[in-house]
Amino acid sequence: MLAEALLNAQKSETLPCLSGKEVFLLYDTFGFPVEITTEVAGERGVKIDMDGFEAEMENQRRQSQAAHNIVKLAVENGGDLAENVHDTEFLGYDTLSARAVVESLLLNGKSVIQVSEGSEVEVLLNKTPFYAESGGQIGDHGFLYVTQDQSKQTAVVEIKDVQKSLGSVFVHKGTIREGVLEVGREVEAAVDAKLRQRAKVHHTATHLLQSALKKVIGQETSQAGSLVAFDRLRFDFNFHRPLLDGELEEIENLINGWIGDGTLLQTKVMSLNDAKESGAIAMFGEKYGEQVRVVEVPGVSMELCGGTHVSNTSEIRAFKIISEQGIASGIRRIEAVAGEAFIEYINARDSQMKLLCSTLKVKAEEVTARVDNLLEELRTLLVKLPLPLLLPACRYGVWSSYFQMETNFYITVVLTLQENTVADTIYEDPWRNQPTREDTDLLERKIIAAVHEMKDLLNIEYSIAFFLELLG
Ligand SMILES: [Zn+2]
Repeated sequence: MLAEALLNAQKSETLPCLSGKEVFLLYDTFGFPVEITTEVAGERGVKIDMDGFEAEMENQRRQSQAAHNIVKLAVENGGDLAENVHDTEFLGYDTLSARAVVESLLLNGKSVIQVSEGSEVEVLLNKTPFYAESGGQIGDHGFLYVTQDQSKQTAVVEIKDVQKSLGSVFVHKGTIREGVLEVGREVEAAVDAKLRQRAKVHHTATHLLQSALKKVIGQETSQAGSLVAFDRLRFDFNFHRPLLDGELEEIENLINGWIGDGTLLQTKVMSLNDAKESGAIAMFGEKYGEQVRVVEVPGVSMELCGGTHVSNTSEIRAFKIISEQGIASGIRRIEAVAGEAFIEYINARDSQMKLLCSTLKVKAEEVTARVDNLLEELRTLLVKLPLPLLLPACRYGVWSSYFQMETNFYITVVLTLQENTVADTIYEDPWRNQPTREDTDLLERKIIAAVHEMKDLLNIEYSIAFFLELLG
């Protein structure tokens, strides 16, 4: 991802620079610390718009603050609303659908008594089967239905997120798909069972992952954050080096073994002291009350956890790590898939492999050898190419021909690839003005970056020298 962004920046026609937005995206979405981005970009002659990055950071801080405040302010300033709002009773450990009463409705953060079709709404119910985002697990999706005379459906609300506010008030965020929803109405609240199952599978798999990690790399590693989503799980932990392939394999084997054991999970509510004494692991950044919920996979894992879990480890079906990387100094991140998401991942990989096989016209087990051969052929070909043909081969063509149009000088580049030397004089245009020092510096950086990129791609040894001769 970082490499892709840098390549794009290098190809740009002006001074190569990563915008603040790009740096922020790398940081926020892909987990690249800004120090690393700066360092890698610097090596490739790409500048970083730090001011732009800071502005994006500030922007996000404001937005998350604002999102946080909407519910809080509305509930607090709603006058009688604040008095009427009480903790939502959570039924979702035992059931996926329940009848509940609409206690409050919020439209753009303001308390209202009814909301009509098409509106984005926040719904507060007296009780709910919907899980609200917490402990890393995302909120449930599903529907609220209003029925009249037990059969006729008069309103449908699609729920796409559930957040907790003011301690234990569940805020169901969604859109009125049909009809009108009013305060005081009874609704049938129905959680999307397939998505809930995906979250359960990933949540239990996260607990197994924590245990496997401790077994393989040491008890002292601890959780630094986690995300339990429908399509994957993400687990951050403290460790000082990248995990070895063998360690990742051992972790997967342990977890798949536990899945195969078909162990029944046990959930107990006990006092915080009892839980600590029995050795339960606490979740990072969570606050706990006097009474805590302990989720146990007997013989494997015991954690304080309010999340939803499978009842038997066999429901997870299979577990696969899809990436392991550093995200900050001393913190590593594993992303993995399990259950339905595992099957989707394997199928997608299989289609990619089939496509590769059909393009290369070989069987899957021969792909590596075929690609090695092709790269070797390419290396041999490239060192024989004259430079003006070589540079476009490094995806440099567009810029170099543009520069050629704009300048009036000779530049001789001597490039040595795998001990073969190619020298060439390129860019000659006697009808244009003399280039400035900046132009030639830029050209030099661009050529070096292009050759660098080729070196990374083909893993070839190279050296490069420039002789600039400006026409007077
Ligand atoms: Zn948990």
